[in-house]
Amino acid sequence: MLAIWLMGRRMLNKLLAILLLPGCVFSPAVQSVADSAAIPVTDTLKLVFAGDVMGHGMQITGAWRDGGDTCYNYHPVFQWVKDYISAADIAVANLEVTLAGAPYTGYPRFSSHQSLAYALQDAGFDVLLTANNHALDRGKKGMERTLHILDSIGMLHTGTFRDSTEREAHYPLMVEKNNFRLALLNYTYDANGLAVEKPNVINLMDTLQMAEDLVRAHSLKPDFIIACVHWGEEYKNTESAAQRQIAAFLARNGCHLIVGSHPHVVQPFAKIAVNAGDSVPVIYSLGNFISNQRDRYRDGGITLELTLTKTDSAVTIQSIGYEPFWVYRYRENKVSVFRLIRINHYLEHPESYPAISEKDRKLMMQFYHDANTGK
Ligand SMILES: [Zn+2]
Repeated sequence: MLAIWLMGRRMLNKLLAILLLPGCVFSPAVQSVADSAAIPVTDTLKLVFAGDVMGHGMQITGAWRDGGDTCYNYHPVFQWVKDYISAADIAVANLEVTLAGAPYTGYPRFSSHQSLAYALQDAGFDVLLTANNHALDRGKKGMERTLHILDSIGMLHTGTFRDSTEREAHYPLMVEKNNFRLALLNYTYDANGLAVEKPNVINLMDTLQMAEDLVRAHSLKPDFIIACVHWGEEYKNTESAAQRQIAAFLARNGCHLIVGSHPHVVQPFAKIAVNAGDSVPVIYSLGNFISNQRDRYRDGGITLELTLTKTDSAVTIQSIGYEPFWVYRYRENKVSVFRLIRINHYLEHPESYPAISEKDRKLMMQFYHDANTGK
């Protein structure tokens, strides 16, 4: 049923993508994990989760510069991490802006040009999460336009919905690849006090609703259930008691992995003990994936990497780890542009990168050290 819906939607999306293409914007690749029918079946699945994709004012002017001052182009931002993200079978990020159309604005009410979504897809992302405190920054129109843009390029998404019928039909988001069936859930603590306009739906961290959703998730017989939660206190390097409580609740109710975002800094990784010696991994916050936050701890983030294996009897986590990223910002003709650096790759192959000032290198290594020592 899902496959049929996706196929029908993909054809419609191709049409929409053609209609949406503005003159100078790079054409979005119409591709989704639903294309997996053509890929040989394997017994492993590699997942990558990235943190907050922000769209501050300076990133907007940087994207305009990267478009040669004629259009917005976010592709260069991800050019050095594309190989890494694309190597995952499924890559997920938190889209913490609306794609609400002009005027394009940064904090506090974010709206980025849709080329950001095209660039994320081109970089290898398959799923974008939309339940976060900025989802309603541009009201109903902005929220719906965001979903429309993502649908138009075949980018899977979950967390916000046009109405309850849509939520009923497509939540939890079921993602199928390599003979694996994943159920993906996404919730936010709030939307900066903005009320959702009817009939739109935003997934709030309501434990009654979450318990109901988890019952539904289990009834769909997935191999693995993942909850991505937008929570916690901004700029705090440790998780809060409330985060621990929600994580324990999710683990108790059958989630297999919990991935956090929102604090804009990396928070600890932990394992929550559940029955019979099992444990559920939780990363409380991945930090920023891309942003213009430059203070210590905020100028980078990590991705969570996970490899699942499947046998006749069970799905297990074969490996789990992380990879640190740093946001490199530099001036080009008096305008700041942004480039993401996978720090381990930079350290192994510095010759692949342009010369980075000693000051910037120190900042990057500070972030690297902090991330690797759990600060
Ligand atoms: Zn947030």
